[in-house]
Amino acid sequence: MALTHSLGYPRIGAKRELKFALEAYWKGASSREALQELGAQLRARHWRDQSGLDLVPVGEFSFYDQVLDMSVTLGNLPARVRGFHGDALDNYFRIARGRSAEDHAACCGVAAGEMTKWFDTNYHYIVPEFDAGTSFTLNATRLLTQFGEAKAQGVAAKPVIIGPVTYLALGKAKDGTDKLALLPRLLPAYAELLAVLANAGAEWVQIDEPLLVTELDAAWRDAFKTAYAALDTGGVKLLLATYFGRLLENLPLLAALPVQGVHLDAVNARDEVEALVAACPPERVISLGVVNGRNIWKTDLEAVLAWLEPVAERLGDRLWLAPSCSLLHVPVDLAFEQKLDGEIKPWLAFAVQKLEELLVLAKALNQGRGAVAAQLSANAAAIAARRSSKRVHNPAVKAAVAAITPALGRRQSPFAVRAAKQAAWLNLPLFPTTTIGSFPQTKEIRQTRSALKAGTLDEAAYKTAMRREIAHAVRAQEELGLDVLVHGEAERNDMVEYFGEQLDGYAFSQNGWVQSYGSRCVKPPILFGDISRPRPMTLEWIGYAASLTAKPMKAMLTGPVTILNWSFVRDDQPRSVSCTQLALAIRAEVQDLEKAGIRIIQIDEAALREGLPLRRAEWQGYLDWAVGAFRVTANGVADETQIHTHMCYSEFNDIIQAIAGMDADVITIETSRSDMELLDVFESFKYPNDIGPGVYDIHAPNIPAPAQILALMKKAAARIPAERLWVNPDCGLKTRQWSEVMPALANLVAAARTLRAEAAQ
Ligand code: GLN
Ligand code: ZN
Repeated sequence: MALTHSLGYPRIGAKRELKFALEAYWKGASSREALQELGAQLRARHWRDQSGLDLVPVGEFSFYDQVLDMSVTLGNLPARVRGFHGDALDNYFRIARGRSAEDHAACCGVAAGEMTKWFDTNYHYIVPEFDAGTSFTLNATRLLTQFGEAKAQGVAAKPVIIGPVTYLALGKAKDGTDKLALLPRLLPAYAELLAVLANAGAEWVQIDEPLLVTELDAAWRDAFKTAYAALDTGGVKLLLATYFGRLLENLPLLAALPVQGVHLDAVNARDEVEALVAACPPERVISLGVVNGRNIWKTDLEAVLAWLEPVAERLGDRLWLAPSCSLLHVPVDLAFEQKLDGEIKPWLAFAVQKLEELLVLAKALNQGRGAVAAQLSANAAAIAARRSSKRVHNPAVKAAVAAITPALGRRQSPFAVRAAKQAAWLNLPLFPTTTIGSFPQTKEIRQTRSALKAGTLDEAAYKTAMRREIAHAVRAQEELGLDVLVHGEAERNDMVEYFGEQLDGYAFSQNGWVQSYGSRCVKPPILFGDISRPRPMTLEWIGYAASLTAKPMKAMLTGPVTILNWSFVRDDQPRSVSCTQLALAIRAEVQDLEKAGIRIIQIDEAALREGLPLRRAEWQGYLDWAVGAFRVTANGVADETQIHTHMCYSEFNDIIQAIAGMDADVITIETSRSDMELLDVFESFKYPNDIGPGVYDIHAPNIPAPAQILALMKKAAARIPAERLWVNPDCGLKTRQWSEVMPALANLVAAARTLRAEAAQ
């Protein structure tokens, strides 16, 4: 008998209940008790949603982040919050976001913990902080409470924790301490935790070690051996879970660890199932993740059964079935989608539907396919409909992709030649000033958009209102004396959704929210088919903006890699192919803009870096097609047309070659917080084209003083020749207020003028 379980459930709530409860609590609009109560209700509901499973994950529910929860469980709180008084939950929020509900009234709060991406997902965790003095003391309260709650509700509870080696790897040693040196201090806390859970009645504990799908050096491999030898105390049974990729050279390491069960992501690592089974001791439980926990497509159940049946035969009771990873990364329930395209909806599965699939698979294995004949045939029909749908396959798009030649991705002349031609018509001063695209998305703009959606405002009135916003942004930039203007992106809800909505091949959910961090959720658009652009997407707005000024107007587009990385992407062709289709669609927009006389075009690739595969060995393959797609998008223009790109992060060291390979005339990047240090790599690599290092941290409400901007630009000029430098903010200004943006940009323009005057002396 194959048994079913799951690795984790979305915690935000089908209607984002947790988000709203958290935000109300933080604002002081609701009580701590109300928040705790809502948490308990959500847990109970989510356990009910999972009640068909043989084992249900418990303890992965979090008010902010499961890694921060683990830090609390291990008593590893940063020193700066230790002195704070008040409720533990408030201290928790202080680390998570710099302040608790109480601090609003009282004073100031503390520096929030750093946030970074959880492996290759779009979920962000709070980075554990270590130093030479770090010690660990168990605090199992949260886990025990949730475990007790679950047991009281009759849930077959399996506590979930993050494993010690992954926990250490995810953290940061602020003082350069060797993190592995902390392992001997960490393991007793883990051993105690397992003992406490055993005492509370847990039979199995799921211990997550996704680190095992990445490249490990000898010291980290040894850490796994040391850790699991120390935790092999016989109290509870350990299910060691890996996910998000293949084990490759780590497979024998995992197989040799003294645990009672292992979980393998059999969506990404199906070709390792056999080797893993062969390498594991004969009594060990093998859990296979057979339903994709990372995307929203229905599983092809017959295809899975075809390979799984012989495995089940061989493993018998040792086989467990699960989603490939925690369902944290998918929306909760497709049943709440009333407006989703009727042809496409049956192709999809959210968390609830994924668990249903799992139960069908288990029943097919345990009782024979006949026991679920109706479900299997309904599934097969949906899979077949998707496979053959005209909405998915567009022969013209496939032909255009097949016809791509290297010439399509090459500019006519090298940068030096282009730069001279561009300078001739642009006639910009030294240290030209510009912005990254968006201006404040004011309450009025958002209300106007909601009114359009709700049908209380018609299209014409909406357009008039947006034109007014654009005119206002253009006037403001002229007043400020910026050199290259933008239209301000008033009409865009989101830099990916805006384009997705206008492309064929995309669908949209109403409630398909996925947690990004804390109370923040994203609703990725669904890329289901071949991508094409029925008509120009930005021309009207940007053309209007250009008509209002004699200054150069920079058009704003989102690049193909970013659109891809921030979407749920079809799984029936390589991502590189979908990316190339997007590239052709955006290329057509670039060329239409150029034809209309817009000669500066910015193509944002904010998400290029985050698409990097988990394993370094696979980076180059990704970068090749990602950069190739950008080049197809951008490079079909005349020498005189200036291509900008923008990236808002600060790690370029390991991908600078690829960035240079994009061959954009100008790149604007986020640098203000790193004090221009990240320009070192642009300097040592001798990055050949123009650079605009951000000098205004748009994530904070602070207004940078001219002297501050000047100091940053001088640091930049010490590294990059002045003739190749631009002056601009770190990123778009959409989250700021006009009252912040105007003085900040005035200071930016003033600083540029000072630089020019100094250079002229
Ligand atoms: N052009 C976009 C803006 O200004 C870029 C946003 C981003 O890089 N995330 O808002
Ligand atoms: Zn940005």
